[in-house]
Amino acid sequence: MTITIAGYDIPVFSITEFPDDPLQLGEFDHMTYEIHIRSTLPDGIPMVDTLIHEVIHAICHIALASEDRLAERQVTTLSTILIDTLFRNPKLRKCLEERWNG
Ligand SMILES: [Zn+2]
Repeated sequence: MTITIAGYDIPVFSITEFPDDPLQLGEFDHMTYEIHIRSTLPDGIPMVDTLIHEVIHAICHIALASEDRLAERQVTTLSTILIDTLFRNPKLRKCLEERWNG
């Protein structure tokens, strides 16, 4: 899968491990402009939350000056609450899909 963010095509790769941190779930690699997601993450909230978390990191890196980028805790809070809000509000998801598709 590739996600386009502000004109940048960001490939998303599923990987089995992060050698530098065995507990890491995902990363946006700002050198390669790739997102890496741990392949053993279960589908559903854990996978979606991790993917959105890394998308927010990519957005921050692409769109913001380094001094304006969100801190790790801010990215975590934003992604988790956004996903939770979408998960708990199926009418919101449906509305967004309908409006998106016109
Ligand atoms: Zn992070």
